Amino acid sequence: MSQATQDSVREDGVIASVSGPVVTARGLDARMNDVVYVGDEGLMGEVIEIEGDITTIQVYEETSGVGPGEPVESTGEPLTVDLGPGMMDAIYDGVQRPLDVLEEKMNSAFLDRGVDAPGIDLEKKWEFEPTVSVGDEVASGDVVGTVPETVTIEHKVMVPPDFEGGEVVAIEDGEFSVTETVAELDNGEEITMHQEWPVRQARPAAEKKTPREPLVSGQRILDGLFPIAKGGTAAIPGPFGSGKTVTQHQLAKWADADIVVYVGCGERGNEMTEVIEDFPELDDPKTGNPLMARTCLIANTSNMPVAARESCIYTGITIAEYYRDMGYDVALMADSTSRWAEAMREISSRLEEMPGEEGYPAYLAARLSEFYERAGYFTTVNGEEGSVSVIGAVSPPGGDFSEPVTQNTLRIVKTFWALDADLAERRHFPAINWNESYSLYQEQLDPWFVENVEDDWAEERQWAVDVLDEENELQEIVQLVGKDALPEDQQLTLEIARYLREAYLQQNAFHPTDTYCSPEKTYGILTAIHAFNDEAFKALEAGVPVEEIQAIEAAPRLNRIGVQEDWEAYIEDLKAEITEQLRELY
Ligand code: ADP
Repeated sequence: MSQATQDSVREDGVIASVSGPVVTARGLDARMNDVVYVGDEGLMGEVIEIEGDITTIQVYEETSGVGPGEPVESTGEPLTVDLGPGMMDAIYDGVQRPLDVLEEKMNSAFLDRGVDAPGIDLEKKWEFEPTVSVGDEVASGDVVGTVPETVTIEHKVMVPPDFEGGEVVAIEDGEFSVTETVAELDNGEEITMHQEWPVRQARPAAEKKTPREPLVSGQRILDGLFPIAKGGTAAIPGPFGSGKTVTQHQLAKWADADIVVYVGCGERGNEMTEVIEDFPELDDPKTGNPLMARTCLIANTSNMPVAARESCIYTGITIAEYYRDMGYDVALMADSTSRWAEAMREISSRLEEMPGEEGYPAYLAARLSEFYERAGYFTTVNGEEGSVSVIGAVSPPGGDFSEPVTQNTLRIVKTFWALDADLAERRHFPAINWNESYSLYQEQLDPWFVENVEDDWAEERQWAVDVLDEENELQEIVQLVGKDALPEDQQLTLEIARYLREAYLQQNAFHPTDTYCSPEKTYGILTAIHAFNDEAFKALEAGVPVEEIQAIEAAPRLNRIGVQEDWEAYIEDLKAEITEQLRELY
């Protein structure tokens, strides 16, 4: 977020009232969504309503002690983010103030109010390598050079979207700070490594396309049954202790995104501290470098009031779009969108707006969909392909999915991973409920899996889904009359379903091998269980009692495929043994 320059400051106003994060001012010359500085301390806020002479502001910092009569200044500009090298490996608060810089300034982990710091380091020198030469024509969005931002990420310096473009008249390699000109165009435009962008406005792209590639997560239940596309949207409701944090860590580590933007609009308190402490410790399993080298964390700090939850969501998505423009696949995780919705509810009630369902404002659905709509698979302005996938955690109170935030989110997102407290209690991890979860991307992603994994990817998945469905139905009968009352073929189906749950759906995030499962291995495990199924039913038809089939020594080894490094050989071997042991029975 940029500091307001003296000359951009407009007419001063005066505080009329303060109600938590909502402040009204009189006599302020401002427009909707302008950034304003409130009170003697200059707390940052944003104009959310103008009625006659009264301007209503949501303030992104604690307002205690601020009172009527204190000054309010408008910057005349909307909330923007600073974009440029240095965002990877950064930890920001909700208004893009780097936490480490602020901590240094304040000499404490608790941010003081009214402290401003630019979102990117203005002094640091970066090694700029041009990719165009004098005489080349460049248009808005084109890449003019690169900067090694971190060990993992090459930052592409682009002609800003609001530039006209033209012929390059000067460009040189060398060390530059983000404010120094790295290229000049014949129309006088000077390109630096620094861009600013208003957070509430999506960055332009040439075309939004139908996503056709999966964001492979290495988690069997996700890739196998409920895949998300690159550029797709997913919601993951996470009741406490159901594995929300572990799942998000797994996605951040393993999803085949180039960049991770993690937005934590958590509770006041320690939810976010955990993330801030955990992430810098994590290694990127693909490169061995720190995960932070391709990650940007945006975290609401403990003294940021509710209004900042909104700004951190928008800051995050704008940063994600900026890296998308470079042609990267970006995964944005927002944790938790429920907290953001609660902030909307609080602000709305202070504004005395007409409440909608459960007190949430009527525009809840519109805001949520505006946010998720910024996800997508795009042809960027410069003709590259880039994507922003958005995975939003939802924390429904009491795990009740019928509440408004979950319901409105479900109407928007195309993938739903329902974490389930009961499964977690039974230590079935990841505790994603396969009966409630879904992905609307399945069909459009199947061709990718067919081409890159196996021809019958979709048929195998359907087989697994059918068995699990049947198990679900049979369970009701089992609860009434017990398993032994079922006919033998149904008992066998239950046995197969058990292996599907234990060997296929369960996956141990903490096992060095099982933590990541390639789509090939995911398919391999499924077909191993399917092969067991086919041989077992043959044996049953030949008159072998179901107990004997269940008791063969090889079958339980299905549950060990996940932890095998050399899984292909293991599966071959296992299939042969299962067949042999079953055929011995008849
Ligand atoms: P939440 O964030 O929803 O409160 P956590 O992500 O902290 O829950 O998960 C709670 C516990 O569940 C973890 O400490 C871990 O023991 C277990 N767990 C969750 N997911 C997995 C997984 N995929 N593999 C193994 N254990 C898991």
